[in-house]
Amino acid sequence: MIGLISATAAGAAARDRLAAVWPDRARVYDGPVADAVRAAFAECEQLVCFLATGAVVRLVAPLLGDKAADPGVVCVDEGGRYAVSLVGGHGGGANELAREVGDVLGAEPVVTTATDSVGLPGLDTLGLPVEGDVAGVSRALLDGEPVALRAEVSWPLPPLRAGAEGSYTIRVTDRLVEPAQREVVLRPPTLVVGVGAAKGAPVDEVLGLVGDALRDAGLSVKSVAELATVDAKAGEPGIVEAARRLGVPLRTHPAEQLSGVDVPNPSEAPLAAVGTPSVAEASALVRGGELLVPKRKSDASPAMATCAVVRRPRRGRLAVVGLGPGARDLLTPRAKAELRRASVLVGLDQYVDQIRDLLRPGTRILESGLGAEEERARTAVEEARRGQAVALIGSGDAGVYAMASPALAGASDDIDVVGVPGVTAALAAGAILGAPLGHDHVSVSLSDLHTPWEVIERRVRAAAEADLVVTFYNPRSRGRDWQLPKALAILAGHREPTTPVGVVRNASRPDEASRLTTLAALDPATVDMMTVVTVGNTATREIAGRMVTPRGYRWQQDPQEEAQ
Ligand code: SAH
Repeated sequence: MIGLISATAAGAAARDRLAAVWPDRARVYDGPVADAVRAAFAECEQLVCFLATGAVVRLVAPLLGDKAADPGVVCVDEGGRYAVSLVGGHGGGANELAREVGDVLGAEPVVTTATDSVGLPGLDTLGLPVEGDVAGVSRALLDGEPVALRAEVSWPLPPLRAGAEGSYTIRVTDRLVEPAQREVVLRPPTLVVGVGAAKGAPVDEVLGLVGDALRDAGLSVKSVAELATVDAKAGEPGIVEAARRLGVPLRTHPAEQLSGVDVPNPSEAPLAAVGTPSVAEASALVRGGELLVPKRKSDASPAMATCAVVRRPRRGRLAVVGLGPGARDLLTPRAKAELRRASVLVGLDQYVDQIRDLLRPGTRILESGLGAEEERARTAVEEARRGQAVALIGSGDAGVYAMASPALAGASDDIDVVGVPGVTAALAAGAILGAPLGHDHVSVSLSDLHTPWEVIERRVRAAAEADLVVTFYNPRSRGRDWQLPKALAILAGHREPTTPVGVVRNASRPDEASRLTTLAALDPATVDMMTVVTVGNTATREIAGRMVTPRGYRWQQDPQEEAQ
């Protein structure tokens, strides 16, 4: 819950705006300000105070305890111009809250946490449990002091500007170690714990066993990625509850699959009960990895639970990121976050230029020129398989006539893949032209470099017959000039010469240009590879200079029929 506190009428007005947009998230604290701040501090995860920072500092100071547990506090000034992240920037989420408050109130977020303002990853924002001297190591990274990276297990991290040696250390490990002085320990989720349990096994027995097994092997419970078991035990309360209390997912596997896993300690009992000679070891090992703790039974008598621990094989991360058509504000926040999450960036040089300023210092950039698609795709997958955090970029949407398919066609299931959608050229052009895509539509690439022309022609013909709005990508280049006239002629066989055609060049880029013409009047010579051409269907009209495809013929009569 976010506690809202204000003292003046202007503050109360801004406060009420937040309360109105966040009815379930925010709660207004009335009454004397000092009491309200104390009450909210005790009861809420976050506070927004419509008060001077000085006043809030005095009120909050005596209440501050632990950086990890204190609420995040944001102050908004009387004029509603600034949302200041005052306390708990990372741990309390105040930096993010300041941005959200800024969005609602039109205020400028003020974030002073060093790692946020200079583009280095805050060590506590990597999504991994972190212990130790976070402040000291972050400061050393910022000041450019040598920081050694000791990665005992491989995990796809963003660039940390750390080297081989230094008086500060970042240790990446799943082992049970205490951070030394001037050291932070990052704990990646590398461990899979396979669990078997007899019907009715108590949760305490399961948890006790897992805890003992990890401790005796010198492994940290914070690195447990998941519990795993056989499908038949998916609802076994002791296992389900153990996963819940550990805060990890429970993954189950079919008995047939588990019986095929080579394990050191098979036995008869589970074979009879659930149809596989091994549950704990097999379900931990089923996706590969290194067996760190072979099957072990609980101390209870009779023992009702077994477990085994495996370190997963290294998994890199491949983010396939669409950058949108060009303009920075059409790049999604998620795409931006993925670019900053990457240690390796792979892309066409001109697209890299589009976002170079967003990359963290230290990001390895592998850029290449036009025509090297296959090689780029292969490189991105290879880097991910080496355990890197890779971003493979493409303009528009990276899955539309772009890098996602060649990359994923060559990727095995040993990497994690994350797709980030982008605004594709047809949509960017549609918004400029008006509403050309208001009814069924297709995109057709006229490039016959990889697709035989007969196939392209067959699809254009089908679109013509089906009366679909058509957007042509890759419409015309210097060496490829007869395809567009041919495609337009096919459409003209089924549509009036007056059918509207929108031509958009460099949508959302500085030299954007667009034109509305007709099938009969379009001059193909004005079209190049920076252009998309959208041809209307038989119902598309030019209305007030805009291209409009009606949503249907009955819609006007019955607005209830189709939701918006
Ligand atoms: N992945 C891209 C498309 C790649 S194919 C996307 O989703 O947009 C390349 C073709 O896309 C170009 O030849 C052109 O037809 C079109 N295109 C890409 N960006 C464009 C833009 N900003 N304006 C107009 N057309 C564009």
